[in-house]
Amino acid sequence: MADAGLSMPDNQSRPVASAVPLPPVFETLVVVGPGLIGSSVLRRAREFGGLARRVIAVDVSPEVRARVSELGIADEVMADAAEAAAQADCVMLCVPVGAMGPVAAQVLPAMRPGAILTEVGSTKVSVIEAITPYLRPDVPYVPAHPMAGTEFSGPDAGFATLFEKRWCLLTPLDNTPVEAVGAIRILWERCGARLREMTPAHHDRVCAIVSHLPHLLAFTICGTADDLADETRSEVLDFAASGFRDFTRIAASDPIMWRDIFLLNRDALLEMLARFMEDAQAMARAIRWGDEAYIVDRIERGRKIRKSLIENEQA
Ligand code: NAP
Repeated sequence: MADAGLSMPDNQSRPVASAVPLPPVFETLVVVGPGLIGSSVLRRAREFGGLARRVIAVDVSPEVRARVSELGIADEVMADAAEAAAQADCVMLCVPVGAMGPVAAQVLPAMRPGAILTEVGSTKVSVIEAITPYLRPDVPYVPAHPMAGTEFSGPDAGFATLFEKRWCLLTPLDNTPVEAVGAIRILWERCGARLREMTPAHHDRVCAIVSHLPHLLAFTICGTADDLADETRSEVLDFAASGFRDFTRIAASDPIMWRDIFLLNRDALLEMLARFMEDAQAMARAIRWGDEAYIVDRIERGRKIRKSLIENEQA
């Protein structure tokens, strides 16, 4: 690991494209899966510095490797994750959550003692379970989840400021060394993120309500509109006002990524969906019986939540 300045106070570890470069957190950072998230980390390292002296991107597809080389966002682009991992003092897995276990199985045996394994998966309990069988006592593992994204994927979708002011949730294990957590914390701070630590189970419940359920609703409502008669459907598409348009934005997200997230956060997601359906039923009942006070109360709560998101710069 390069001089990470682990004792650096918060305000000095903020990312800056500054005249005085910060010493990088890592000598060599390997990003496996240079898609939206992975390529954003690579761009951040390139454009802002302070993350790693050398960044290596790994991808299974020759087309994606060629594109990453063309974009010039990595010092090296490789096909073999184990070969790359052998050179790293940090390996960051940015592949779909369902692929985390198999990819960890490839990289972990090749990693140097003391190098850090981290990942960015949107579910934590299942990813930790998938990686745990391959863990080594001499390779600290720091699970993380940057809560930033768009509906686009692949290396062209990334950008260096994606994580600015977004939360990055860390879910270290009981035995994760604090130095390793500190290094990953600084890495994400230098990506512009705000950090919070929580247990993996708590993370999954939080994300089920703030991210996974909204995506489930978006995919479902688009399906419902699509199931309507042809004429109505064309009108939906012609006259989609902002409400439907906003749903379709997140419904454009990658199917494999969301299939994996739904299946791997099944329990928390089904719990939140059940609670949502109860609340939706209550709203339906209020509408049926003309309960104006209830309807206004629910809309006002929604407005308040939106307002506080704007105040917290999360909108
Ligand atoms: P993405 O743009 O689709 O990129 C995924 C990357 O993983 C691609 O480079 C892809 O390679 C590679 N990959 C896919 N399957 C693989 C496999 N079986 N083995 C090895 N590599 C594989 O996805 P993303 O949005 O960056 O998401 C990556 C991770 O970040 C996921 O775990 C996701 O849960 C998490 N995350 C996503 C968001 C978001 O909003 N998008 C936010 C936070 C965290 P090819 O292109 O060659 O297939």
